[in-house]
Amino acid sequence: MNTKCSFCGNKHSKETKIQYIYKHDNQFLIVDDVPCEQCEYCGEQYFDGKVLEQIEEEFQRIYFHGKKPEQALTVPLERYSQFQLA
Ligand SMILES: [Zn+2]
Repeated sequence: MNTKCSFCGNKHSKETKIQYIYKHDNQFLIVDDVPCEQCEYCGEQYFDGKVLEQIEEEFQRIYFHGKKPEQALTVPLERYSQFQLA
């Protein structure tokens, strides 16, 4: 891809696969191996609109249509103001 990074202006990007965290109304879906173009300089990630659409559809299937996800995680949650300062 030869388009400029809109974040840093660098022209070099590589195709890679990353872990994407989709969030909607405090509900999360983590998707592994999502294809994207990543800027080789600043690491900014660019996704195909189609890919993002598919992730959103999968989110809908899991949260609203009862699809069983491949795996479900328990994720720790903390409030910054409650951090215990050493
Ligand atoms: Zn960049």
